[in-house]
Amino acid sequence: MSTTASVRKPSKAMINGFDPARLSELPDHIQENIRRREQSLGPSYRLFYNTPVEAVRGQGTKLYDSEGNEYLDAYNNVPSVGHAHPRVVAAVHEQMQKLNTNTRYVQESILDYSEQLLSTFPAELGHVMYTCTGSEANDLAMRVAKYVTGNQGIIVTAGAYHGLTTEVAAFSPSLGVGVPLGANVRVIDAPDTLRYARQGSLEDHLRNQVRAAIADLQRHGVGLAAFIADSIFSSDGVFAGPAGFLRPIIEEVQAAGGLYVADEVQPGFGRTGEQWWGFQRHGIVPDIVTMGKPMGNGIPISAAVFKPELLVEFGKNIRYFNTFGGNTVAIAAAQAVLDVIREESLMENALKVGEQIQTGLRELGQGLEQVAEVRGSGLFIGVDLVTDRSTLTPDGETAAYIVNRLREERILISACGAQGNVLKLRPPMPFSTNDADRLLEAMGRIFRDLH
Ligand code: PMP
Repeated sequence: MSTTASVRKPSKAMINGFDPARLSELPDHIQENIRRREQSLGPSYRLFYNTPVEAVRGQGTKLYDSEGNEYLDAYNNVPSVGHAHPRVVAAVHEQMQKLNTNTRYVQESILDYSEQLLSTFPAELGHVMYTCTGSEANDLAMRVAKYVTGNQGIIVTAGAYHGLTTEVAAFSPSLGVGVPLGANVRVIDAPDTLRYARQGSLEDHLRNQVRAAIADLQRHGVGLAAFIADSIFSSDGVFAGPAGFLRPIIEEVQAAGGLYVADEVQPGFGRTGEQWWGFQRHGIVPDIVTMGKPMGNGIPISAAVFKPELLVEFGKNIRYFNTFGGNTVAIAAAQAVLDVIREESLMENALKVGEQIQTGLRELGQGLEQVAEVRGSGLFIGVDLVTDRSTLTPDGETAAYIVNRLREERILISACGAQGNVLKLRPPMPFSTNDADRLLEAMGRIFRDLH
């Protein structure tokens, strides 16, 4: 086990960028690769952690570097059924040898998969269209929403991230001042259950915020096309409950003629343990649902699911073709993912191990001034860190410190929230009780040092 004494108290920005002062401490080949990276990829890319992690191999819930060091992955939700899952590997390999083509040919596998995928949704959602990334799925969702409503207005939460295209980045406030919001985009507060619980009703607060946003759009002559929200509010700071808090927002949005787009790129495919989709905990039915990341266990595939009536005119007038979206190999990967989630009872595992982690973290955090709340659902967990519990002032520095100390112990997590003060735990779904023990043991040690 490496020492932790060498970890300096980092600034919060350092979660998303290594500390250049530490470059010389890294093995020669990593130093060299970081230089080559900067040379060829340019300045926009970021590395996680003060001391970057090299990854050459993955298996299940573990990553390995070129020296064979093992890292416990408590962060990556793309390899949702586990790194290099043999079923997914075999499905992709076999399909790649046979055929990989697009949706302009009649193929049965996409139909089998689509029917199975749609069966996980409420009956009102009946068509699926395939894309390659979450950004692209959200872009398509918004195109349809604007087309159907004839409106341009979009409402999002204050810390939301929905993707990287010009259109989608313009309704992703978490990108910060460098990426201005679109003129027709309005922002409401993140559903910060911890802080609003102290001030009265969260639901009233959110309802009022949405009403004000709709009124402001109207004042500018703009109708509402859609409200879009990540159903677990991952970049806002992980807000899973109380179940139903989204309902008043959706009532207001639909009353104003807007659509509700549930972005399931983060919580989807059973991660929250109880249900396939995060919106289901709120007892609401979206007009459109988007999904991506875990869908193909790393093979690029994403999708938007629609109420069929939304696509009648759109489909008549607009030809949809996506060269790679829903290609034969991507579908083979997605089918294997769906099969593995069911056959290996990964939703049940997410629920069980998620409970173990949440309970363990609550116990460890008891009496610790900085740990204001442990929350989440299944294997999507947030730990809200504050400078003191009376003011609930977000403490991004301590979050960055914990993230980097865990990295020194070869356990990978990250942080989110407006101030980077919420530890974000989101491991591959086969995360075992032993993995959870290892995580909790390390967290316990680090929490003790915070005292
Ligand atoms: N929506 C949410 C909630 C996301 O977290 C992300 C990616 N972090 C996206 C959309 C965009 O997905 P992608 O990176 O695949 O374009």
